[in-house]
Amino acid sequence: MGMPMSRERAVSRAFRKIVGVSALLLTVAGRAADADTGNWTRYGLDGDETRHSPLSQINAQNVSQLGLAWSVELQNEPGVLEGTPLEIDGVLYVNGGVGAIYAFDAVTGRALWSYDPHAHEANPRGTRRMYSSDRGLAYWNGRIYTCTKDGRMVALDAKSGQVVWTTQFLIPGVSAVSTGAPRALDGTIIIGTSGSEFAGRGYVTAVDAETGKVVWRFYTVPGNPSKGFEDPAQEMAAKTWSGEWWKYGGGGAPWNAITYDEELGQVYIGTGNAGPWADKVRAHPGDDNLFSASIVALDVKTGKYLWHYQATPDDVWDYDATADIVLANLKIDGALRKVLLQANKNGFFYVIDRVNGKLLSAGPYAPVTWASKIDLKTGRPIEIPGSRYPDKRTTIAPSMVGAHDWQAMSYNPKTGLAYIPVIRGVEVMAPSKEAMDLLKRNAGRIFSDQGVDGVFRPEKRDGAQGGGRDELVAWDPVAQKAVWRTRQPCQFNGGTLNTDGNLVFQGRTDGQFVAYTADKGDRLWSFNAHMGILAPPITYTVQDQQYISVLAGYGGGAGESAVSGYGGWSWGMPRRLLTFRIGGTAQLPSPPEPVTHVTPLDDPSLRLNAKRVAAGNNLYGEICTGCHGEAVVGNGNAPDLRASGTALDRDAFRKVLKEGLFVPFGMPKFDDLSDGEIAGIYEFIRSRAREDLKSGRDGADAVMATDPQ
Ligand code: CA
Repeated sequence: MGMPMSRERAVSRAFRKIVGVSALLLTVAGRAADADTGNWTRYGLDGDETRHSPLSQINAQNVSQLGLAWSVELQNEPGVLEGTPLEIDGVLYVNGGVGAIYAFDAVTGRALWSYDPHAHEANPRGTRRMYSSDRGLAYWNGRIYTCTKDGRMVALDAKSGQVVWTTQFLIPGVSAVSTGAPRALDGTIIIGTSGSEFAGRGYVTAVDAETGKVVWRFYTVPGNPSKGFEDPAQEMAAKTWSGEWWKYGGGGAPWNAITYDEELGQVYIGTGNAGPWADKVRAHPGDDNLFSASIVALDVKTGKYLWHYQATPDDVWDYDATADIVLANLKIDGALRKVLLQANKNGFFYVIDRVNGKLLSAGPYAPVTWASKIDLKTGRPIEIPGSRYPDKRTTIAPSMVGAHDWQAMSYNPKTGLAYIPVIRGVEVMAPSKEAMDLLKRNAGRIFSDQGVDGVFRPEKRDGAQGGGRDELVAWDPVAQKAVWRTRQPCQFNGGTLNTDGNLVFQGRTDGQFVAYTADKGDRLWSFNAHMGILAPPITYTVQDQQYISVLAGYGGGAGESAVSGYGGWSWGMPRRLLTFRIGGTAQLPSPPEPVTHVTPLDDPSLRLNAKRVAAGNNLYGEICTGCHGEAVVGNGNAPDLRASGTALDRDAFRKVLKEGLFVPFGMPKFDDLSDGEIAGIYEFIRSRAREDLKSGRDGADAVMATDPQ
């Protein structure tokens, strides 16, 4: 055990701090946080994943004096940073974009060691069309565990950074990447897969923390029945599918939420949407497509199925049930219940009995137009007629990025409030023959064809740099209602941390790192990070001094953050780890300002062929958008190609794709594209650059110009 204090002792201390046994029963859930050590040893801080810290040295009274203690630039990380740092006995461990780890002295920011798994070089082609991000690390018994994008779990000695073992946990031939944070489960390390949108079949893998051997595996959707089922749960699930679903992967990727219930010996997995979005190829009316868009409970020792709750049966809106799962004990209708909480992408906040998976309540925490309510008797949504779209276009809320996505929700078990980073927007979804043809043609290959069209529209467009206006919401899960809401001037903001100092911290897309009062939502303090923040903050103490740390690094893979994304944070601007304390006086070195205008490059002598441009538009949308941005408007995750010299030079452009010249920087190799296809993409980029140069529009306008309505 790496914990300096036993669970029992920590619980007994917590006991003394709280007046009255009934208060304790209501407020202290299964596991104690690292309250007495001041450490942050797990992704969600404690076993319940509350991200509620009992630290209060930094509080609502003195937060105005909070200042930067130190900052470091992560030199090899030009793109998105989503990670939750860990802090253990004075050392901060942070992850980069695709599996790298950096260790720093938590007081001074001095670099101690770093580890680069060279994830891009390890797989220059296979995982290229998928998401590029990494949400965190696990710690167990003196070791740090990272999962690389290309599917390696690596155990490192926490002190030296030396590799102890490496295990390939992604199954060759099953389409997937890894973006999630592994979790330590009492001697095993568990990790899911990402890639429902890329012909993937989801599964979780538990690995022995000591040896690196795979202990068990659980698939979240069934495979081809003719090959036999891995376990009885797969056989049961297969009855809820139709057609040859396995040809398209099936989806159900458990790409984020994994919560370990030590008390009940269960682990809860949140699963992604059924893949593809078009349900014609996977469901007849009445098919639920288990265990997609569900929360599944597994036996922690064996990985055997225990129960499931499906939030969105036969999902066609990309309503993954992958948002963080938080454990709590709540008094509901006079009885104390062991529950789990999830602010689901589909707009409902679920309170589920974690003993048996029974739904206790579900309330809409954001605008919802696909279902009128969740029937508590059956646990099923009452769908609003017309929200499915087999024949015609529909506009649906929440959007495919959800009313709340992977950005961490925090929960205070003492006050009973959950702090949700809410995303406001709708999705315009439509059947498409063209998209369906593409899907059928590419079945089983790593393409993002969904067989339908979907376009995200932010709720409002008067915000900064073209984004919409999101909200931070304090939610009471028992009453199923908001206690306060704060509108924000920008879209797709970071996760939350709450503390006993009556504070909630959240970073935003526009670079502001903000502290609010936890009880009322009053804004007390902010810091301009000069870089968009998506990652959630943590807090810890070293030598009786409390610190707050957060990663600043905006960008994002398709569907994860780029949707409304242009915040003016371009690829290559400094990405940093920021650490704050009361009285901190450090300054950010040479803070950059957001890029609000990009000057596209053009070669006026270049003649563009309309047919090739059109073909290039399709290909660009399929394979380039996620990193280089919609309509060739940079989203911070890769260079803006309108202003790139390499993308203007036809030969250099071809070489980058064919020969993989920029693989070490994360630009994949596309050696299977024909010269004609490359010429098409090239000409499409040139036509977009020329258009924007002529019109003088900035990035945000260009993104909006592609909206069909
Ligand atoms: Ca999804």
